[in-house]
Amino acid sequence: MKTISRNLLGLTKPQLEKFVGSIGVKPYRGRQLFRWMYGHGVTKFQDMTDLGKDLRSQLERTARITLPTLVTSQWAEDGSTVKCLMELQDGHRIEAVWMDEEVRQTLCLSSQAGCALGCTFCATGSVGFGRNLTPDEIIGQLMIAESVVGRRPTNIVFMGMGEPLLNLDNVLPTLPIMTAGDGFAISHRKITLSTCGIIPGIQRLAKENVKCKLAISLNATDQDTRVRLMPIAKKYPLDDLLRAVKAYAHTTRYRVTFEYVLIAGENDRDEDALRLPKLLKGIPAKINIILLNPTDLPYQPPSEDRVSYFETLLRRHKIHVSFRKSRGAEISAACGQLAGKT
Ligand code: SF4
Repeated sequence: MKTISRNLLGLTKPQLEKFVGSIGVKPYRGRQLFRWMYGHGVTKFQDMTDLGKDLRSQLERTARITLPTLVTSQWAEDGSTVKCLMELQDGHRIEAVWMDEEVRQTLCLSSQAGCALGCTFCATGSVGFGRNLTPDEIIGQLMIAESVVGRRPTNIVFMGMGEPLLNLDNVLPTLPIMTAGDGFAISHRKITLSTCGIIPGIQRLAKENVKCKLAISLNATDQDTRVRLMPIAKKYPLDDLLRAVKAYAHTTRYRVTFEYVLIAGENDRDEDALRLPKLLKGIPAKINIILLNPTDLPYQPPSEDRVSYFETLLRRHKIHVSFRKSRGAEISAACGQLAGKT
């Protein structure tokens, strides 16, 4: 009878120790496997030179390290952004985007194949929901992107396809792999989970004292506009969301980032700029204003004049604001453009 080999990718250190125990090997071998896979990016047991010949052969028979398949990688003309399109074992396609921001090397990961939330300005929302990604598929994106770019990311943002707070059971186990010194060695302060406002997920992060940063994709300053742009706001209304974020910030003492995608005629009014700082009063917060990237969807970014006036109004308040243009628009790699297509 043929034994089914176990995919070791995405397993945490304790899980690897347990696995090697199950094949009669001492736990420290699990820690060696951890270091080879995540610290050195090695995916062939035969290349793990300190494991011993017999153990390597035993692993060949009982285990495997299987990554998603890289379909294409597209580079922006200036070389600053790379989009990796990958296919999973069951045929679903997902994307990860690497942004070279000089001091920072940021990798944007997907947490789901597609997305169920249907934000009306987002290309991922328009393709619908496939399924949750598993830890190996999340870590696999990281390893593939690293091999395409040839370096290690300094920052991870879960802002690719999907809503990470609806897949915390699979996302959270990847964090200790990313932060371990003998893993990817990325500081927990440089890992961000971005949510459209899933209140139970925010509460869980606070309750479990999850060490990473939280970003809220806000995109509106009143409930009606938010519901129009982000239908999930019907279930988790703006006032309740802000209360939950305040409680999160109070418990964790982390500053929260609010992402605000500026969309012409929707959320770029004077009253939005005036209301935004008031809404966030009492929350240690930073606002990231992002210009909408055009897709096939019927929304446009505001004019330059409008953006600069919006900025002027916002900057009158004592709140940390940054304006950024999303990168990678020409390869459909920018915020809201990921649709799992080449
Ligand atoms: S913005 Fe995020 S949560 Fe909303 S549809 Fe797109 S991927 Fe899903």
